[in-house]
Amino acid sequence: MKTLEILYEGKAKIIYKTDQADILLMEFKDSLTAFNALKKGEFAGKGILNCMISTVIFELLTKQNIKHHWIETLDGKFMLVHKTKIIPLEVVVRNYMAGSLAKKLAVEEGTALKCPIVEFYYKNDALNDPFVNDEQILALDWAQPEDLKILKSQALEINSILLNTFKNVGIKLIDFKIEFGFDSTGKIILSDEISPDCMRLWDSKTDEKLDKDRFRRDLGSIDKAYLEVFERLSKNKG
Ligand code: C5P
Repeated sequence: MKTLEILYEGKAKIIYKTDQADILLMEFKDSLTAFNALKKGEFAGKGILNCMISTVIFELLTKQNIKHHWIETLDGKFMLVHKTKIIPLEVVVRNYMAGSLAKKLAVEEGTALKCPIVEFYYKNDALNDPFVNDEQILALDWAQPEDLKILKSQALEINSILLNTFKNVGIKLIDFKIEFGFDSTGKIILSDEISPDCMRLWDSKTDEKLDKDRFRRDLGSIDKAYLEVFERLSKNKG
């Protein structure tokens, strides 16, 4: 398969067209951004680590019959994915209070939630990806009622698989963000990446942060934390 021109370059990934119309090549970059790219950084090997962590998670989701865009991982930081038409919503699932919600409601970070929360944010950098509710999404025609049902049920199913997987390797899945798109048959499938860039992962015993908050909050040792997540997940894979 031949790689053709860049279709899109984002803060952490580059998407290339290939000579097959419905297959794209995704490159994971070493760069890190936070606060809508106001803070920028990078560490060597981050692209590879995020690609490998996403790969382990996609493999796991495949076994659990979750439909997603991942086809295969090539060497290092590249994966082949099915082309999808991305739904302009970031789907956030929370199991514990942290980040923007903890701040908004002044609740201590790490407080366990009685049940998981699914939230939608409108994907728009110029607006800082604002929170939107179901009524706003439907009124603006960004998704149909049946799409929202699928997004919520898929998000919760993925959450329960990931909660369990991370629990088995001594990590609390605090929250995460995922994205979905329509495949060529019109089916909604999980797209984008799943890595410590878009999750909060805390060591179960020490509550040490093993995710992008190390970068956002200047905690240092970002590379060690991502490697730790990869090593624990890989060991669990057997
Ligand atoms: O910032 P907030 O607490 O709302 O983030 C919730 C979760 O979604 C975190 O795991 C964060 O890393 C992820 N997220 C993301 N991309 C965004 C916003 C949030 O990956 N644009």
